Amino acid sequence: MFFNKSEEEIELLRRCNLLVSETLGILARYISPGISTLELDRMAEEYIADNGARPAFKGYNGFPATLCTSVNEAVVHGIPSDVELREGDIVSVDCGVIIDGYYGDSAFTFPVGEISSDVKRLLEYTRRSLEAGVGAALVGNRVGDISYAVQSVAESGGYTVVRELVGHGIGRRLHESPEVPNFGKRGTGPKLKQGMVICIEPMINMGKRQTTLGDDGWTVKTSDGMVSAHFEYAVAIGKESADVLTTFEYIDEVLNKR
Ligand code: MG
Ligand code: MG
Repeated sequence: MFFNKSEEEIELLRRCNLLVSETLGILARYISPGISTLELDRMAEEYIADNGARPAFKGYNGFPATLCTSVNEAVVHGIPSDVELREGDIVSVDCGVIIDGYYGDSAFTFPVGEISSDVKRLLEYTRRSLEAGVGAALVGNRVGDISYAVQSVAESGGYTVVRELVGHGIGRRLHESPEVPNFGKRGTGPKLKQGMVICIEPMINMGKRQTTLGDDGWTVKTSDGMVSAHFEYAVAIGKESADVLTTFEYIDEVLNKR
């Protein structure tokens, strides 16, 4: 079901997603060779609690951690572990919070130390595909316009789009209607309306698009073992332009200084 959001509710959702943005910005400082994703998880949990919020993923359908940390061929839903990140890895960090019953949910794929130019290009295209999706998140458009925009950019880079997992509405629940696929046709799907808040989250693969579920029952991986990237914004549908409730500016500040 789709729940129309008032302006006050959109401001609450902005607060939630700002906290997620800040959390990811802090993690950006520490993501380097030698740190484990479990250490990142503890930092995130502490920062979220210090800000009077709760992690949204911990306990969600039994998920055991604050963050989803998905390294290299892991697409999404990776469980933080004590395995150290290595130079050249990439790690998608997906973070969710709850404040006063409202949810924040955003993700960024970080380079660990120096990464190859091929992988850098995948990250650039995935982020660009997200921005293209945002460009179509306008009143009067349809979900398929977002899907088409994301898919077009990703495929123009020679990459493939994961189909088993999709973006979603967000509000008083982590996952609401509508589903927001990262592939589709223009002019199809539900109409985008004022008051709609959605998460756009392209999951883009270097190789084939197919995925498999890992032995832990959570981690979604590429079937061919090639790397995958994932970026996620929470976005309020807008008339002239979409209102992006997430910001990557804290992350970019850290990464651009390197
Ligand atoms: Mg997410
Ligand atoms: Mg999401």
